[in-house]
Amino acid sequence: MSTFFINQLDFIFFFYGLAFILLGTTCLAIARSKDRGEAWAVLSGFAFVHGVGEWLDLSALIVGDGAAFAVVRVMLMTVSFVLLLDFARLEAIRLGVNLPGRWIYVPVVMLVALIGVTGGVTAASIAARYALAFPGALGASFVLTWGTRTLPASARYAGLCASIGFLLYAFAAGAIVPAAPFWPANIVNHGWFVSWVGAPIQLFRGLLACWIAFSIWAMWVQQLAGQLRSARYTTFVRQQFIWTLVAMGTILVSGWTLTEFLGGIYRQDVQEESRRDIDLLASRLSGDTASVDAMVKALAGFPSIQPRLTGSGRSDDNTAQSFLDLAVEASGARRGYILDGTGAVVASSNPRDVLPGKPSYGTAVYFRQSIVGDGGYQFVFDAATGARDYYASQPIRAADGKIVGVAVLTKSLDAFEADLREFSRPYFFIDPQGVVAMTNRPEALHRTLWPLAATVKTSLSRQFGKVDDHPMLEREVVDGTWATVDTEREYVRRRFADHSQWSLVILKPTREIFATRFLGIVITLLVTIMALIYLVGKGRWIHDDVLADNRVRLQELTQDLGVKATTDPLTGLHNRLNFDQALAREIERSQRYGTPLSLILYDIDHFKRVNDSYGHLIGDKVLVQLSRFVPNLIRTTDFLARWGGEEFVILASGSGGPMAFQAAEKLRDAVGQVVFEDVGTITCSFGVTQWVPGETAMEFIARADEALYHAKANGRNQVVLAPQSEAIKLKASPTGPL
Ligand code: GH3
Ligand code: MG
Ligand code: MG
Repeated sequence: MSTFFINQLDFIFFFYGLAFILLGTTCLAIARSKDRGEAWAVLSGFAFVHGVGEWLDLSALIVGDGAAFAVVRVMLMTVSFVLLLDFARLEAIRLGVNLPGRWIYVPVVMLVALIGVTGGVTAASIAARYALAFPGALGASFVLTWGTRTLPASARYAGLCASIGFLLYAFAAGAIVPAAPFWPANIVNHGWFVSWVGAPIQLFRGLLACWIAFSIWAMWVQQLAGQLRSARYTTFVRQQFIWTLVAMGTILVSGWTLTEFLGGIYRQDVQEESRRDIDLLASRLSGDTASVDAMVKALAGFPSIQPRLTGSGRSDDNTAQSFLDLAVEASGARRGYILDGTGAVVASSNPRDVLPGKPSYGTAVYFRQSIVGDGGYQFVFDAATGARDYYASQPIRAADGKIVGVAVLTKSLDAFEADLREFSRPYFFIDPQGVVAMTNRPEALHRTLWPLAATVKTSLSRQFGKVDDHPMLEREVVDGTWATVDTEREYVRRRFADHSQWSLVILKPTREIFATRFLGIVITLLVTIMALIYLVGKGRWIHDDVLADNRVRLQELTQDLGVKATTDPLTGLHNRLNFDQALAREIERSQRYGTPLSLILYDIDHFKRVNDSYGHLIGDKVLVQLSRFVPNLIRTTDFLARWGGEEFVILASGSGGPMAFQAAEKLRDAVGQVVFEDVGTITCSFGVTQWVPGETAMEFIARADEALYHAKANGRNQVVLAPQSEAIKLKASPTGPL
């Protein structure tokens, strides 16, 4: 399980960084929407810097790490944690806690730097996590919980979720640290977490970052929805939240699938390429050994050789020796021997081998194989001289088929090694136990590739003097596998040399896989950005639309209120209030310009009877019908209003009394001819008056009322024009009647 996740580290870093960048964007939006947004701006700084740091970790995985690069990343991480702690400090101060100023970070950061200088990058990163990340995230959790008290219920839940996220993050980022020799990093560390949970801590930090980002976002939009008080916006916000979750989930899963697919293509390529590489190495090796293999067969079968061992027949020492020398030269061998049945040297290409005290090879593996009838082949590593040789042997048979001796050719592998100098990838030529006998990585010489059994270890240390018992791999590789070599992921391929227990191993780094997977990550990032632009843009659009909607509704409401204030609800005519304003205006105008101004006041005759006979509703209908009919018969400049009950008033500006009288006559006549629904015909009585300069509105109306009273008194259905003299008379003696 953990191997699976280790292969996914790049994607984990990617989405971890992405979550923090989303968190940063949300916090920035919150900061800008608030009056005192400083703390949120600081939190957004933490999220952005940390997110970028995660993406730098990702790039280190892809393009490779370096000492300076690692220092930069730890510095960035420290800055991000300072910002996280500062968010908690600012919010706590706002909530009334007494805390020191920003100077407090100076000694803490200096301590981290000091630890970095003395103990290295990992120690500094651990110190930053303990001293800044842990209290920072814990503090953030605390202030968020505290701050949710004043929020509406839905936003409060989201705030509590964010707070729980920070609480867990305090442990994930501030307590579970890279392994180090000191307490508690020597116990609670990344390795401990992987062995405990089966997945890297980065995966959980990434998930927590997502959780925090979404919780804070939810908290913010719930608050926005609360402020807008729009059911439409609230529904939209809830839907958008779900859609964003679904979209992000879908994009990340498909992005991961694509990344895996692309990585898979490369992985297959790597496997294929490694197979070709190792086949090439093996064929070079067998090319080198094949000449010795062939020549030793010829040597064993050469007619002059066998008599030297049996002493039978004609022994031609010189011919045998020269053929032996020839065989050595032709195959590029270092030496050639003829051994008797006990392994003692009978003839050799090196004259010293046949001197007294000559060596015996009776115990050599190749000898023992050949003496029983097989070809013997063996690679030998001489730890004392550092020489690596290949031995090929063949049985020498007498005429009757009995094995009488063994022919041996030995060839140095130096030429093979020289040949491989151009081979850029690491390769290892290892003995049957897995000890490196030849490699283009000098530091790996005599190192074991995989763990050895204790018995093998002691025998090997006798053979090699010193074996670097610090295996590169966790277990023996048989064919091809992906494995962690030291600390890097590599593809390991092994192939046995021809008829031997020795084998060739090559490594291929996975960094290029990460590079191919990076394409998948970039595509995922682009799709995420597009989806977010769409979702955020839509959110903004709806937000603005709802705001505009609210504004329009407010305007309509104001307008409606205005209309209600100036209009008669039954007839839709101007009401008394509006009429009074119009009258005051028109009197002023006439006063200034001397234009005539008249008033026509009319009242339905015997309207009570209509109500009594047909009911109030029918009476209302008559009032409405009359009100619709009259405007057609008067000038557009005339101002018609409902005076009250079944009485109406027309303010005729620009008309003198006689003209207004005629207009009233016309109206009276027309009304008399209209057939009202249910009721039939009705009549009206009219009182007309012309305004006299200096007259007040009340006086003006009173005279019209007087004229109307006369019209009623005279028998109704008639128009009475109030004489101007009445007004003048009234003006002359204001204490007079009326
Ligand atoms: P006159 O010819 O003297 O004017 O007789 P009248 O019955 O019309 O006079 P009066 O002023 O005594 O009665 C007016 C009636 O008009 C009384 C009231 O019931 C009726 N009325 C006033 N306002 C309304 C209204 O909005 N709807 C209806 N249906 N009737 C109204
Ligand atoms: Mg009346
Ligand atoms: Mg009336």
